[in-house]
Amino acid sequence: MSDIKENLHTVLDQIKEAALEANRDPSGIRLVAVSKFHPAQAVEEAMDWGQNLFGENRIQEASKKFDKIRAEGKNPCLHIIGSLQRNKVKEAVRIASCIESVDRLELLEEIEKQCAKIHKSIDVLFELHTGEESKAGFADYASMEVAAEKLSQGLFPHVTVKGLMTMAPNTDDLQAIRNSFVTCRECAQKLSESFPALDFSELSMGMSADFKIAIEEGATLVRIGTAIFGERNYSA
Ligand SMILES: *Cc1c(COP(=O)(O)O)cnc(C)c1O
Repeated sequence: MSDIKENLHTVLDQIKEAALEANRDPSGIRLVAVSKFHPAQAVEEAMDWGQNLFGENRIQEASKKFDKIRAEGKNPCLHIIGSLQRNKVKEAVRIASCIESVDRLELLEEIEKQCAKIHKSIDVLFELHTGEESKAGFADYASMEVAAEKLSQGLFPHVTVKGLMTMAPNTDDLQAIRNSFVTCRECAQKLSESFPALDFSELSMGMSADFKIAIEEGATLVRIGTAIFGERNYSA
């Protein structure tokens, strides 16, 4: 049995177990298999074992990989999870069904512009900065509120917000990790109360090292790379 198959099944079992322990329905949690730095072949192998949702953080790499897979007639679903430069948005909206890492109003404007050009609707998550070291994400509730306000005014008709994403700090301090997820959940709650016409039900929280805590705190999407595909070789 290949490592990917075994790892995938282990991770899916762990997600289910964590959900049940948290008194949650396991079907309310979807796995985003983060395939960055791994080849198309690894994605296809995971697809062979039933995984259809993937996450990538570098646009050029993702385009190459997913164009190749789709040229073979396969149809994986792709979420962009990494910080996105304005000049990469055109390509990002072409290849992805969701951009999880929307962290500024300017990006939302560019996503709308590029989606309108190709008559495509796209889902987005607002990334909230809750971790210590990474700078990515909206800084706070107030900055997300401004973006939500514009969405609720109908300024971005090709863009549908679905919820929030966050990355916990990379630390052994379990309480700090939990706090990060709680902050994200509370912000989503507050946004859905303030903007009842918008959907903030998705919480993309948790990676290989911390997804159990994320599930306890309400994650609906977990983004897991290493535990499925193994260590990434950044020098390759
Ligand atoms: C790489 C990455 C992940 C996956 O991390 P692992 O520790 O390999 O599971 C999740 N989310 C984001 C935003 C990432 O960049």
